[in-house]
Amino acid sequence: MAGNITFTMIKPTAYKNGHAGKIIDQILGAGFTFKAMKQVHLTAEQAGQFYAVHKARPFYGELVEFMSSGPIIAAVLEKDNAVEDYRTFIGATNPAEAAEGTIRKQFATSIGENAVHGSDSDENAWIEANFFFSNFEMV
Ligand code: ADP
Ligand code: MG
Repeated sequence: MAGNITFTMIKPTAYKNGHAGKIIDQILGAGFTFKAMKQVHLTAEQAGQFYAVHKARPFYGELVEFMSSGPIIAAVLEKDNAVEDYRTFIGATNPAEAAEGTIRKQFATSIGENAVHGSDSDENAWIEANFFFSNFEMV
């Protein structure tokens, strides 16, 4: 059964460039509802923990530095088939390969600074949501 939640972040560059409002508006327009949302500035340690799965990848250091470089918006979204639908909605990791109209096509500035995060499985969606939010913050 497809899960009904996914976790997302509006990454530092998209936030700094003033795109958060437009991105949130498009998320709602695509039929997702918000179970939780907050603005945070991650420490390098927190960003490193969140992305620990990528520790062995060559871009890990750059990713941790970037994700702790400024404020982000973290959110839990609800929709039928949320994980897969959200990944289709945001587009490919590399904006050069992202489909027209997707969030990354519109707002990413590079493969690293690619505007938004989206969970890759139902299991990771819950792990990531619980990393940022307690149960009573998710309504
Ligand atoms: P996605 O966010 O699409 O699930 P990954 O899980 O593979 O992509 O990677 C996590 C994040 O690491 C990406 O969103 C991007 O910010 C960064 N990243 C991925 N590949 C690269 C790369 N080749 N160079 C720099 N940063 C990268
Ligand atoms: Mg991923």
